[in-house]
Amino acid sequence: MDIEKKVIQALNTVDDPDLKQSLVELGMIKDLKINQQHIYFEVELTTPACPLKEKIKNDCIQAIEKAVGQDYEIAIKMGARVVQGHQQSKLSHIKNIIAIASGKGGVGKSTVTANLAIALAQTGAKVGIIDADIFGPSIPIMFNCEFERPSMDESSDKGKIIPITQYGIQLISIGFLTPPDQAVIWRGPMASSALRQFINDVAWGELDYLLVDLPPGTSDIHLTLVQAVPVAGAVIVTTPQKVALADAQKGIAMFRQAQINIPLLGLVENMSYFTPPELPEKKYYIFGQNGGKQLASNSEIPFLGEIPIQEIIRDSGDKGYPATLKNPEIASAFKGIAEKMAQELAIKTAKKTEHETIN
Ligand code: ADP
Repeated sequence: MDIEKKVIQALNTVDDPDLKQSLVELGMIKDLKINQQHIYFEVELTTPACPLKEKIKNDCIQAIEKAVGQDYEIAIKMGARVVQGHQQSKLSHIKNIIAIASGKGGVGKSTVTANLAIALAQTGAKVGIIDADIFGPSIPIMFNCEFERPSMDESSDKGKIIPITQYGIQLISIGFLTPPDQAVIWRGPMASSALRQFINDVAWGELDYLLVDLPPGTSDIHLTLVQAVPVAGAVIVTTPQKVALADAQKGIAMFRQAQINIPLLGLVENMSYFTPPELPEKKYYIFGQNGGKQLASNSEIPFLGEIPIQEIIRDSGDKGYPATLKNPEIASAFKGIAEKMAQELAIKTAKKTEHETIN
């Protein structure tokens, strides 16, 4: 048997652990080149934030070495092509719209949105944020572009708003439309038409993930907001505190309502505990212990991870330079959350596509 056939056969025994199907069957092996003692190919994953990247790579190497011996130098590029999580062809440049929601205000929804966006971008994904929090748009402050106003593209993409790009993230905020010192009372239809415009009338570049920072709560506004655009999945942010959990539960129920039916990608527990810098082995559970984890488990949604209370997270948010950009420990916590979320979304999209193909 020629060497190429042996390599393909070997790769056919390697499964994507999430999709439980062989990489070859899934069409993930690209650009296979074999010359003399070199074997090269690309594994095209469903997200650059795949937490199983190293495992898949090692599985491929082991399978090939078992089939052809160890005389070949194997080079594998771990690439990714994020699958589109909606059906709207005119939005094909935005692969997945993800709603970030919380029942209660002040639990850190915007902080998580900002850091999660940066963590996703650090894996190589193209990321945008729509700040749709009509009650308190804080993304402009968290990205230090509070006083910027997006301009209109008068040339090629006539009439479209150009998003502000900061730290590699494309941004649009409801805050850009309102003077910072003036309270604007947004009504549901106004907010949802603004959100629709933010999706359709903004000159977004290619985006793998567009995070929508929703207002806190579960009112009619939320119903109209999430129905205004094709949301692929939702993430719930909560603190472990009883009152926050009760509201988070309402948020979960909202996404599960028949007329909304948006897949829940998971729950993030923020402000899980506090560790004083001078007592690094201590954990103080100021808002209670494990409440978020339990809510996720009781609601049968994935637990994406926990973020402690840290002064640097608050301070970086206020200074407009999210902590994930400068603190390796926080970056690692948000990377874990980003990977789990992207993995969950990829699995859900694959299942949905399979279902749609069968039906
Ligand atoms: P929400 O969007 O839910 O209203 P924010 O993200 O605006 O909440 O956070 C509320 C406040 O709490 C902000 O001042 C923010 O800096 C702070 N904060 C959020 N998460 C943390 C954390 N893990 N540690 C310390 N401060 C935090």
